[in-house]
Amino acid sequence: MAQNYILKEKIKMGISACNFGAMVRYNNIGWDRASLIGRQKFDYVWTPVCPEVNSGLGVPRDPMKLVNGNGDDFWAGNARMKNKKGRDVGDDVRKGSAASLEILKRVNIDAFVFMDGSPSCGVYRTTLKNNRLGKPPGVFGSLLLKEDLFLIPALDLESPWKWWDWSRRLHAFVWLKRKEIKTKKELYDIWHALKFICQEADVPCANAIGQRLAGAPKKIDGDFIAKWKSDVLQLIRRPSTLKRIQAVMVKHYAHYRKHFSRDGSGIQAPDASRSKQIFVEELGKMERKAAQEGYHFAGRPIVYKPGRS
Ligand code: SF4
Repeated sequence: MAQNYILKEKIKMGISACNFGAMVRYNNIGWDRASLIGRQKFDYVWTPVCPEVNSGLGVPRDPMKLVNGNGDDFWAGNARMKNKKGRDVGDDVRKGSAASLEILKRVNIDAFVFMDGSPSCGVYRTTLKNNRLGKPPGVFGSLLLKEDLFLIPALDLESPWKWWDWSRRLHAFVWLKRKEIKTKKELYDIWHALKFICQEADVPCANAIGQRLAGAPKKIDGDFIAKWKSDVLQLIRRPSTLKRIQAVMVKHYAHYRKHFSRDGSGIQAPDASRSKQIFVEELGKMERKAAQEGYHFAGRPIVYKPGRS
């Protein structure tokens, strides 16, 4: 059985400031989505940034949009950022995005909770209108994607299921990123612990990673380890779907009940009709009990136990 790994050091999270209670959106509104994860909020150290406010554009301001391409094209000099009145605000946004990234790098964040739908902070979409994607990524989102960061859409903090999924992969991502690896044996042990969540994301891709490890010489060099690690990290941070998350949750329920059928903990059989919140709370109980008993819960391979301050 794979061993349990523990991550004790607090994870540092950047967040689009409008989701951390700051009323910095162009129309002077904001949300406190970080509080939606309840007490878990205190398990992380947060650094809110707003690239548009750091551009000096102020609140309120005219909304803006990308013209002639996405955020990648913007940095390549081929797209522009214009406000509602048609004024080119690209120079301001470039400075504000670079300043925001500089802050995040200085405090050495591991992950970023971004506001999808924004032409600045959006990663997978730059509009929320009519289910359209816009021109992703946004200007700041383009910079975030190039960094070694775990990226979480802020809107997903509203769903206990999605947060359950993101948090377990976040812990695995940060643990692996920080892990010093020297030998093939260490890589094998790590792969044994992480392969399940990699397979969930993409079976052919995960199999290729496993085969590459199996085919590697006994003595592996730093380049092999760095590339292998980077491929696993990319796979772990890939977004999932609600359908896939639900299937994984039910699988864990079933595994747990089979393994601990004698424990009488009151954990019920998986039933998707129950409230999502209760479903997630029961999974949490299972995971805590499994960790106490040294049982490796493949769906949450890293046990996150930060000290609360
Ligand atoms: S989405 Fe980003 S740029 Fe827009 S208000 Fe929020 S933090 Fe600022």
